[in-house]
Amino acid sequence: MLITNIGELTTNVAAGDDRSGTLKDAAILVEDGLIAWVGPAAEAPQHPETVDAGGHAVIPGFVDSHSHLIFAGDRADEFEARMTGEPYAAGGIRRTVTATRAASDDDLRARLASHVAEAARQGTTTLEVKTGYGLTVHDEERGVRIAAELTPEVTFLGAHVVPAEYADAREKYVELVAGPMLQAAAPHAKYIDVFCERGAFTADEARRILSAGIAAGLVPRMHGNQLGPGEGVQVAVEMGAASVDHCTYLSDEDVAALAGSETVATLLPGVEFSTRHPYPDARRLIDAGVTVAIACDCNPGSCYTNSMPLMVALAVREMRMTTAEAVWAATAGGARALRRDDIGVIAPGKRADLVMLDAPTRVHLAYRPGVPLIERVYKDGARVA
Ligand SMILES: [Zn+2]
Repeated sequence: MLITNIGELTTNVAAGDDRSGTLKDAAILVEDGLIAWVGPAAEAPQHPETVDAGGHAVIPGFVDSHSHLIFAGDRADEFEARMTGEPYAAGGIRRTVTATRAASDDDLRARLASHVAEAARQGTTTLEVKTGYGLTVHDEERGVRIAAELTPEVTFLGAHVVPAEYADAREKYVELVAGPMLQAAAPHAKYIDVFCERGAFTADEARRILSAGIAAGLVPRMHGNQLGPGEGVQVAVEMGAASVDHCTYLSDEDVAALAGSETVATLLPGVEFSTRHPYPDARRLIDAGVTVAIACDCNPGSCYTNSMPLMVALAVREMRMTTAEAVWAATAGGARALRRDDIGVIAPGKRADLVMLDAPTRVHLAYRPGVPLIERVYKDGARVA
């Protein structure tokens, strides 16, 4: 297939100062699910199957590197109470744990499949999925197993919160997560994650759980510095985490540690939008040379959206990223956060994961928030939306 008459092509192949590698009047040749050739439309090779992009923009498929989509239940009432300032005390995350444990495998599978399809319609071609609402050996194992049926990017998050039944025995729960639960989950997972925050897991507990995960062959990632300053970022860098996610409250030492590391700072502006918390300081990170990704953190509590175009709009409007930076962070940045070099870039040999916009430029993603601008989506060269 030859996609031609592309008005603006974002390749993410850096060219001088242009990290987005933007080409005008471009074409892409796709063969066997991979990109075979990229260049000016006037120089494109002939192909019997040609798609005319009509002068519209094409970007790499979005890489959403952070979601919690193995769950059941609904917490719309909690959101409504939060937005209207009414006190609300119905148990938050523990409600989701109860509903998830009670759900059948088929229910969890159908909900995840529906989310994957919904995300694809919004341009997401790679979606990371975490567990973390099972919190028993049985429920975490089935969570990663079901997630692995629908995405290769599966994260074991037994260390999400200490479940109610271990409230008085957290040490025993940490032992369970780093021991039998990890052993059951590891065959189906690629990553291990810990929610390192006051009220969740301490830095020492995070070190212990991530070390056990690394020994079991998993790549570490971390939820850190979301609700206040803390050791999450430092531990993530120290453990060689692929990514530390949230990064809302950072010290100068945290920023310096990230800048000198391979750990990506993944910002999740949908959470701040949905909880009315202050946004992370993306400019401070980018200006310090930190690799920044943006992702949705889709989950039933703090942010129930899987719209990467919305994240781009929030990154531009609320975090002062340029549209080029935001689209890079939502594609190539997400790929780095997942340690993938075959996606997030439009170049020969990479996977043909492509989004055609119903717009002449990528700026429209932020300029026209909330408008369905995703015209066509290709994953491995096949049309998925
Ligand atoms: Zn999260």
